[in-house]
Amino acid sequence: LQAADIAMYRAKKYGIKYQIYSHLMTKATLGLELEMDLRRALEGDEFELYFQPKIDTNSRRIVGTEALIRWLHPRKGVISPNDFIPIAEETGMILKIGDWVIQQACRQNKIWMDEGLLNVPISVNISPLQLWFGDIVKSIKEVLTQTGLPPDYLELEVTEGIAVQNEIQAIERLGALRELGIRIAVDDFGKGYSSLNSLRLFPADSLKVDKAFIDQLSIPNSEKNNQITKHIISLAHAIGLRVIAEGVESEEQFHCLKAFNCDEVQGYLFSRPIPEKEFRKLVPLQAT
Ligand code: C2E
Ligand code: CA
Ligand code: CA
Ligand code: CA
Repeated sequence: LQAADIAMYRAKKYGIKYQIYSHLMTKATLGLELEMDLRRALEGDEFELYFQPKIDTNSRRIVGTEALIRWLHPRKGVISPNDFIPIAEETGMILKIGDWVIQQACRQNKIWMDEGLLNVPISVNISPLQLWFGDIVKSIKEVLTQTGLPPDYLELEVTEGIAVQNEIQAIERLGALRELGIRIAVDDFGKGYSSLNSLRLFPADSLKVDKAFIDQLSIPNSEKNNQITKHIISLAHAIGLRVIAEGVESEEQFHCLKAFNCDEVQGYLFSRPIPEKEFRKLVPLQAT
């Protein structure tokens, strides 16, 4: 992975300030230290996947699972991905961590399926860097063969950030993955500056409405937000996408989304992301 490529990606995503900051950070070899920390974490088995169910709005049953990475640091405790994914991207470690996530998620889903516990697709978050620089098509093919997971039981959640650079290659790769039968979801929809363009360009199956829209649902004076959310959902349906709302925390939000014909919901109202041990106890209560 070329440092210059990553710097370019960062600069486009976060602006020039980040580029200067990250340059200084690298210069201070802080980056190197963190990279070693992440490498040790990967080798030392310190990463774990947590799972959060996706719930069908009408039946209230589990129709999917999102895998979310956690770093169980021996001294610092549970570290959120928001605090280490950017560093993993910065150092290129995201490629190895990303492969690990895909491998673990596929393996776990196959176990649930074989046990008859759960028969739904598993979703993993993909960094744009994995689409630009890794050989993601090959590595996913290998993981599917090795784990025996059917391709349509794997979904990749990608943000529109993938189109800021190497756009043609990223879209080609998503297309190739989709041809294998893997599902593609556009994550954090509405958050970025080119959401509608990403809808036009990405080969996708579903769209996840960003939590920012869900937070504002059915609160006083939120008519504008309600209308936007409602029309994002109908726009997505018009172009053949399923719609998932993320960050649903209240019954009010859920009822709003149901009235807007949102297909699936995900959020603390149903469950936080939880470790596998807890997840397998939850599933029979909200079985498919
Ligand atoms: P995301 O993909 O948008 O995931 C949703 C985030 O919202 C998760 O935070 C989830 O725990 C949280 N969440 C879910 N329901 C609710 C709710 O009702 N209320 C609130 N307040 N929050 C809710 P988390 O797990 O900390 O992950 C943060 C971000 O880190 C993710 O955002 C995703 O972009 C990234 N991420 C997580 N796992 C991975 C991974 O394996 N690979 C990569 N590349 N990125 C990951
Ligand atoms: Ca996601
Ligand atoms: Ca989000
Ligand atoms: Ca995200």
